[in-house]
Amino acid sequence: MEYRIPLIAGNWKMFKTCNEAVNAATHLVKLVSDIDTVDIVIAPPFTSLTVVSEIIRETRIDLGAQDIFWEKEGAFTGEISAPMLISSGCQYVIIGHSERRQYFEETDEAVNKKIRAASDSGLIPILCVGETEIQRDEKKTFSVLDKQIEKGLEDLILDEHRPLVIAYEPVWAIGTGKTATPDQVQEVHAFLRDLIEKKFGNMISKATRILYGGSVKPDNVSELMALPDIDGALVGGASLQPDSFSKIIHF
Ligand code: PEP
Repeated sequence: MEYRIPLIAGNWKMFKTCNEAVNAATHLVKLVSDIDTVDIVIAPPFTSLTVVSEIIRETRIDLGAQDIFWEKEGAFTGEISAPMLISSGCQYVIIGHSERRQYFEETDEAVNKKIRAASDSGLIPILCVGETEIQRDEKKTFSVLDKQIEKGLEDLILDEHRPLVIAYEPVWAIGTGKTATPDQVQEVHAFLRDLIEKKFGNMISKATRILYGGSVKPDNVSELMALPDIDGALVGGASLQPDSFSKIIHF
């Protein structure tokens, strides 16, 4: 297996004012200054991107946004484009998070436009996929993921200069305290890597980092990171406190 640098990403969701974001980022910079073998991303709300980018400049921490719109500019009140994110210091953008799919009716077609706009502009998309509890109970996990990947990545061009990150986030495990078992996670990650190989070939599949997300905490991260197809974590709740996020990064 080729070596993929582990990636731990923190999704701050709709938490933290600018001051709170600056304080958290400043604290985190100190806590992870010894890290040189893990890529770290924090995704604050849009309003804090610029101030946080100043704090993490010249550190190992990269900046991510939590969403994007596919047009570059125009009369789209409330939306944020790829050039705007890049000029705010972002390298990554989370796309298709289950909260956006669930509460804002984001479709696979919209996700696909966002993924292509991000990737074409030089941002690294973190595509979130995952099944609901009902879908898992009905044994639809693999067909749901297959559709999310097929539609979400339609017509996407990938190469070594245009990488992709996938985050497998079972909806039933997000913010619930329920974590998928290591066997469940490995089974899905291997399935996703196989899908990527069929779609983009062996080289891309080996290079693509597949993160797990869903109630990752300091006390369960090392067990998950030991699995062969798990290349990191997308962390919600436990990324809000620099101490717990740093413990996860030090898995
Ligand atoms: C998330 O929102 O991406 C997430 C994984 O949340 P939590 O870690 O709180 O389950």
